[in-house]
Amino acid sequence: MEDLLKGKGYKITGARLAILDVFSKAKLPLRGEDVYKELKRDKNNRVINEATVYRTLTSFAEGHILKRIDFRKGSAYFELALEHHHHIACIKCDTVEDFESKDVEKALGGIVRNSSQFINIQDHSLELFGFCKKCS
Ligand SMILES: [Zn+2]
Ligand SMILES: [Zn+2]
Repeated sequence: MEDLLKGKGYKITGARLAILDVFSKAKLPLRGEDVYKELKRDKNNRVINEATVYRTLTSFAEGHILKRIDFRKGSAYFELALEHHHHIACIKCDTVEDFESKDVEKALGGIVRNSSQFINIQDHSLELFGFCKKCS
């Protein structure tokens, strides 16, 4: 995680490392409040305040360390930008599932080739919304 910060030109601070550590252990995207709650459980991290968490998340998203995900829930979700995948999110509850699909990636590549104005796409995000088994 230190290399990741250095590689992106960030100074290494305890708060930044602690926040990245939360993400490296998380299985699913997190909101600022989730990160803050997680940090508070560890007494070494209790000095990090909520404003610092939100500021760091925004900065990491701008620096492409984190990816911001819009689940249409009011607050933004974040996850490490290292790996590429997509999500399915429940409209009613907080259930989220990751998915990867070679077919989807291939199809998106074809869309770029057929575009009249774009020759190169840097990134994309794709979220599916529906009802989980519990909520339907
Ligand atoms: Zn649900
Ligand atoms: Zn994709």
